Amino acid sequence: MSAPLLEVADLSVRYGEALALDRVSFGLGANQALAVLGSNGAGKSTLARALSGLVPASSGTVSLEGADITSRRAHAIRRAGVVHLPEGRGVFRGLTVLENLRMGLTVDRAARAEGLDLVFSIFPVLGERRRQLAGTLSGGEQQMLSLARALMVRPKVVIADEMSLGLAPKMVDVVFESLQRARDAGSSVIMIEQFAGRALAFADRAIILQRGSLVWSGSADTAGDELVRSYLGEGAGV
Ligand code: ATP
Repeated sequence: MSAPLLEVADLSVRYGEALALDRVSFGLGANQALAVLGSNGAGKSTLARALSGLVPASSGTVSLEGADITSRRAHAIRRAGVVHLPEGRGVFRGLTVLENLRMGLTVDRAARAEGLDLVFSIFPVLGERRRQLAGTLSGGEQQMLSLARALMVRPKVVIADEMSLGLAPKMVDVVFESLQRARDAGSSVIMIEQFAGRALAFADRAIILQRGSLVWSGSADTAGDELVRSYLGEGAGV
């Protein structure tokens, strides 16, 4: 069997004395979606931050396509193709859609043009509105723009950390549709969600964290109501 795209082995993270992540291991295949579930304080965001280099691992390894990226800095991990969302959910309101998309890209012109073609094919509405100021887009369109900006670099892995938190149901639909489009364009997705139902419907596989430990992993369609409720409590949204 070929090596997974992303391999996490015995990953631990400490904040001072506190162990926030305790020897967590899992793999993520190309074009796969993984739901990371767990109640408040389970370590979900810590996992996202450790994978994207925002907090250091205290032990364990993270490999991307067989290369050890555990101690690389956040910008190097991003360049290697692991994008963490929302990394500054905000868009630059006073700049146009096109200017927003061009920001922060240090790639050559051909790659940039290709990136723009890609995101305009994923989000045609942004193509139509490329000269419009981002601040005048609807909330949903601004979400699309923020995701489109991340997809410009054709990420191998998109880590979506509670992107639907606090959003109106219609916006949540936009987030899920956008992540599906990212998958269709070839990215794998790690979806961090406190509410399990939609994440499990979206994902192929799931892991459940509890107080920093991985307590369950399996295919998303076998993570039934009872199992999820037993770890996440009533009202977990299955
Ligand atoms: P939520 O769903 O509530 O966002 P989570 O599963 O994402 O929770 P984390 O944010 O990863 O949980 O937090 C895991 C544990 O680590 C918690 O006990 C939290 O208080 C602690 N923690 C998180 N960040 C820090 C920090 N910077 N310093 C100290 N402790 C932290």
